[in-house]
Amino acid sequence: MAKITRKPVTRKAAVPKKKAKAVVAKPNAPARKTLKAIRRWTPAEVHEAFSRFRKANPEPKGELEHVNPFTLLVAVVLSAQATDAGVNKATRALFEVADTPQKMVDLGEERLREYIKTIGLYRTKAKNVIALSAKLLSEFGGQVPRTRAEIESLPGAGRKTANVVLNMAFGEHTMAVDTHVFRVGNRTGLAPGRTPLEVELGLEKVIPAEFMLHAHHWLILHGRYTCLARKPRCEVCLINDLCRWPEKTV
Ligand code: SF4
Repeated sequence: MAKITRKPVTRKAAVPKKKAKAVVAKPNAPARKTLKAIRRWTPAEVHEAFSRFRKANPEPKGELEHVNPFTLLVAVVLSAQATDAGVNKATRALFEVADTPQKMVDLGEERLREYIKTIGLYRTKAKNVIALSAKLLSEFGGQVPRTRAEIESLPGAGRKTANVVLNMAFGEHTMAVDTHVFRVGNRTGLAPGRTPLEVELGLEKVIPAEFMLHAHHWLILHGRYTCLARKPRCEVCLINDLCRWPEKTV
């Protein structure tokens, strides 16, 4: 009888499962039961709110100064945990000498640090700006790429950066959620969520396409000048009657 030889069983090396990235709720995020209790806006109410924003400010502008998509990208990277006014103060002189990736690389990290040293985390940001400029030159022909994945691949650029650049430089209907948009989305009940991504996706879902180009700026400006973090100015708020915040005044 022929001898049956068995192949030795080779066990596959255990592939460590990729850890899912923990989604951490923002410290000022509403509790889950609060989110559930919020009465959702009807499409007619959302349309009404954005019609009022449009009427009051038909062409809202972002407040980060820039002269082209590259300087916009740099300004957004520098603006993390900093105010737009603080970034503008530093970038006015910087963009005079470095408004392209090549000029930024030529300027070098050390001199760049001098220009931006009034901005928080400036050392890390200087490193990132030089690295992203070098990457734009080596991989994207010196141009700011037009896809989310490519922008997010640049050092120092995350989802919010990609959303701002895609919206402001390329006119895409993206929704960047900063601290103001996060607060307004939650307080008003337009798009409640415990993370910026939840709020972003919620806003994209409820805001009609006709308003999406400017929606990001209307909500930022609303949060910055009316729906203030500590003392919202409900008495002058355009959408007071629609807002779901239980603590609103008037
Ligand atoms: S009514 Fe008050 S809380 Fe509501 S959106 Fe307006 S300012 Fe904010």
